[in-house]
Amino acid sequence: MTGDAKPRPRERSAAWYERACKVLPGGVNSPVRAFRAVGGGPLFYREAAGARFRDEDGHTYLDYVMSWGPLILGHAHPAVVAAVREAAGRGLSYGAPCAAEVELAERVVAAYPGCEMVRFVSSGTEAVMSALRLARGVTGRPRVLKFDGCYHGHVDSLLVKAGSGLATFGTASSAGVPEALAELTVVVPLDDEAALERAFAAHGAELAAAIIEPVPANAGLLLQRREFLARLAELARRAGALLIFDEVISGFRLGPGGAAAHFGITPDLATFGKVIGGGMPVGAYGGRRDLMEQVSPLGAVYQAGTLSGNPVAMAAGLATLATLAAVDGWGRLEALGARLEAGVREVLARRSLPVAFVRLGSLFWLAMQGGEPPRRFDRVAADGAARYAVLHRELLERGVYLAPSAFEVGFLSLAHTEADVDATVAALDAALAEAFR
Ligand SMILES: *Cc1c(COP(=O)(O)O)cnc(C)c1O
Repeated sequence: MTGDAKPRPRERSAAWYERACKVLPGGVNSPVRAFRAVGGGPLFYREAAGARFRDEDGHTYLDYVMSWGPLILGHAHPAVVAAVREAAGRGLSYGAPCAAEVELAERVVAAYPGCEMVRFVSSGTEAVMSALRLARGVTGRPRVLKFDGCYHGHVDSLLVKAGSGLATFGTASSAGVPEALAELTVVVPLDDEAALERAFAAHGAELAAAIIEPVPANAGLLLQRREFLARLAELARRAGALLIFDEVISGFRLGPGGAAAHFGITPDLATFGKVIGGGMPVGAYGGRRDLMEQVSPLGAVYQAGTLSGNPVAMAAGLATLATLAAVDGWGRLEALGARLEAGVREVLARRSLPVAFVRLGSLFWLAMQGGEPPRRFDRVAADGAARYAVLHRELLERGVYLAPSAFEVGFLSLAHTEADVDATVAALDAALAEAFR
């Protein structure tokens, strides 16, 4: 891989996509994969190892999507694959307790601030949905507060955007979400203490919970000020609403204590996914013992799952977290991220481009706009997307696979090397020249 572009025909990917479109809506099982935002049709992965994958046409790409976050050790890490093989040989699913779920729970409880008990589920969406039910169950209150630009999975009551004008109740952002549900969600902008104070003043007594991605990473990387998060925690506490940190991306990626440890703010409940499953379908929610003891069979809040605590998935999560801890994974990822940041900033400055590079640890985002990087969603320039589509295509021709959407972040893994990062900077340099030609 160099700065030089070479065409990488996608005949086989295109043929698979055509077949896929006949039997899968949009040819995919999750919408962003369809490449609608960048055009050209998706690449079909054939196999992946480390920081790279090979597509069905036989081209190799350096991957910065990494399955959208779970693969913090890289694709098919030998320790994870070995653990999964070993576990699979002892049974794929039990529907009964097993040691691995206790061990993974102990790791989460030991690592995450204020987390005394945890319940495993099979996706981040399920974790958030269950945490909201628990919050409503323990408080007896109906409403939740969320932030514009935060994504919490496809939970009905959170597929909601800010209403028009002064109304703070949300309107559904997906068909199929009844307005009666959307109206239970109060939507406020990020990074805006005054709006937050108004929302709590108006609805605080009805709020079961306030949920936030403490490091919002689903609409660009909208880094929040600690003071803002602290104010949120304070307002929630005073109102008697639970504070839920959605750490599905940030949990075990920023460090073992996630964003809670990073900011020194302990939520009442937290949700996990992605990294804790090491590439297998795992989610979890956890928090204070008195809250978690309200979950069935101890308490009145029902929540269950046929495949929850699945032994093979638990083995992948355990191997991932154990390896991260054993090799000082988070320290190495920070160093790698800093190297990428220095390289990209040099390119942006030299070319004086209206692009901002935003990074926290191993998460990064190219904001296709000049000036200070945005901290709230309504400050993200919509017209950056077209330019990003060109950049994306130019990078693919140079063997670098960024997320097929301007609003998704990039993920570094321990499989990415310094040489990979340097080559990426060179490729980006050349690709940006084309995108801003
Ligand atoms: C990915 C994500 C979810 C949803 O997780 P799924 O496993 O895709 O259901 C929830 N919250 C955040 C912050 C996420 O990034």
